[in-house]
Amino acid sequence: MAHQETLLRDVFGFSKFRPGQKEIVEAVTCGDNVLAIMPTGGGKSLCFQLPAVLRDGLTVVISPLIALMRDQVRGLQASGVAAGALTSANTQQETDAVYEALNAGNLKLLYLAPERLAADSMQSVLRRYHVNMLAVDEAHCVSQWGHDFRPDYLRIGALRRALGVPLAAFTATADAETRQEIIERLFDGAAPTTFLRGFDRPNIHLSFATKNVPRQQLLAFAAARKGQSGIVYCGTRAKTETLAAALREEGHSACHYHGGMEADMRREVEARFATEDGLVVVATVAFGMGVDKPDIRWVAHADLPKSIESYYQEIGRAGRDGAPAEAMTLYGAEDIRLRRTQIDEGLADADRRLADHGRLNALLGLAEALECRRKTLLSYFDERDITCKNCDLCDQPPEIFDGTDVVRKALSAALRTKETFGAGHLIDILLGQETEKVLQRGHQDLPTFGVGKDLSRVQWQAVFRQMMGHDLIRPDKERMGALRMTDAALPVLRAEQSILLRKDTLKQTQKGAEAKALVNEEDAPLLAALKAQRRRLAEAAHVPAYIIFNDRTLIEMAQNRPKTIDDMARINGVGAKKLENYGLTFLNVINESVTQPHPQRRKLAGRKDGELYDQLLEVQAELSRGAQGIDKPLSCSAALLAKIVKLKPRDLDSMEKVLGDQKTLRFGQAFLDVLEKAL
Ligand code: ADP
Ligand code: ZN
Repeated sequence: MAHQETLLRDVFGFSKFRPGQKEIVEAVTCGDNVLAIMPTGGGKSLCFQLPAVLRDGLTVVISPLIALMRDQVRGLQASGVAAGALTSANTQQETDAVYEALNAGNLKLLYLAPERLAADSMQSVLRRYHVNMLAVDEAHCVSQWGHDFRPDYLRIGALRRALGVPLAAFTATADAETRQEIIERLFDGAAPTTFLRGFDRPNIHLSFATKNVPRQQLLAFAAARKGQSGIVYCGTRAKTETLAAALREEGHSACHYHGGMEADMRREVEARFATEDGLVVVATVAFGMGVDKPDIRWVAHADLPKSIESYYQEIGRAGRDGAPAEAMTLYGAEDIRLRRTQIDEGLADADRRLADHGRLNALLGLAEALECRRKTLLSYFDERDITCKNCDLCDQPPEIFDGTDVVRKALSAALRTKETFGAGHLIDILLGQETEKVLQRGHQDLPTFGVGKDLSRVQWQAVFRQMMGHDLIRPDKERMGALRMTDAALPVLRAEQSILLRKDTLKQTQKGAEAKALVNEEDAPLLAALKAQRRRLAEAAHVPAYIIFNDRTLIEMAQNRPKTIDDMARINGVGAKKLENYGLTFLNVINESVTQPHPQRRKLAGRKDGELYDQLLEVQAELSRGAQGIDKPLSCSAALLAKIVKLKPRDLDSMEKVLGDQKTLRFGQAFLDVLEKAL
């Protein structure tokens, strides 16, 4: 179906489908009933938007959130697609325009808020305008058991039956129960063509750090990412307010968000977050489904999330545009204690509590993982064969030691004191500290007294935290703070099973503060200039910045530096309509920055080396995507080029000493040729 690729290119400006999109687009275009489960950021909307453009007649899209609908409509209109929305937020003018387009028969997509389905007249209206396909976004909203349940979603099944048209349902929530419920309620139990895409989000860098000086850790993390949009998730409402204030004090633009705020205030934060570049929202998990901003560059958890599913969902809000993004989670023994207690004290029945402890355990397993976070995370979703190289543990594997012995000592200290004490007192016993509490209870006479002097207090704290993480000990809900051994600890206690622990992880937290640059230093100024231009256009048009171009598109522009309008058309995310509207403006930004010589080049001005530098730059531009123009973009920094000009290497070996192997492979020979000619 060549036509699909053309549309993808011309209307949406994408050079190729993301994994899984093509199959879904084909099935939806053919008029199959479809259920597609894709991770957040996988590109679900395209899977109904493209078929809607391709098919005759009108596609109705049902989506739970007004803000998202308006966003998508704006995005489509910016790409030249006739789309409209009927929601309670419409002005009369907007509604009139939608009906006008409907009557003229040239609307391709009509977004509908689920509440609209409650009106009896809606079915006949839709029939009158020849709706020939239904698309349902966030289809898990039909599930009564999930927290996103929307009663009006239950009307969709009847609507499909009444209209007799195919239905395509999309969701990122994939557990088998929810899937079954979607099939029952939307498709009357008749299994649709189902697509299940992997859960990996390879562009999100994953990291965990143990809490040391948590506020400073968080501020350092944010400081290294100033100007990028981010979310900080906190465990309590109070903390969202204090942290947001602390961030503002450090010069960030930041605000808080939680369920206790007036609806108006919440909407204001949502709107600001959608439109402003670089706002940080400090929030509880109430800041959730409505967050559809594709260019969130980082998500930090100031406190441990409640389960592995919540973790996955919350970090998933980062980097939907596919450009590099980061997720960093802070946690400590107190978090584990708090989450356990919340489960134990909750109102759920015993089965549910057991399952909740299991989900928390899975997350703790991830926090205390000994190898790749991504592998550990995705194995929970039954996915294997993961390549990563994009997590803290792949960056720097943790130091591991056989902890069987120390764990047994700790367990023994707990058991000999009848499991009535918390970690602080148990560590005093292990370290042989004659505190008042120890002496009062005669614990200095225990055989475990002082057997743990080979570790420091901090190291023991890390051991206790990991024991909680491995669920060997749990806080006793009857006795505040007391740690109780679980059955899982028995084999270790009896030395039937050994256990590996991580060496103190505190050291690594400093490293986590380093930001991953989106582009290399050479391209950074241009990227900043492109972003500034985007902001100006967005503000003038009163739309979020990413409606103009998303980060990923600007990054590609900064790296490839298109020179002509044709080059520009080849950039991902630049469709025909956007090329027409913004192509020249952005080309100008690029050309201006190119004619502004780099400081490294200015130093060489008027000398023969200056010419040499320019020739290298030219050769490099030709090869930036390899000889065939299909490789990953690569370029040398200005400093590196200046160094080559200065050293004038004569062979590939000496070239490699300056450039490293990858760049030598790409540019080495061509650079040598330039240098040779100049001699
Ligand atoms: P979700 O699956 O979370 O609904 P979206 O449909 O919002 O994801 O898409 C996420 C981002 O990916 C958007 O910014 C969209 O423009 C971009 N995108 C979708 N398909 C492609 C593609 N084939 N190539 C490049 N970017 C794409
Ligand atoms: Zn990894």
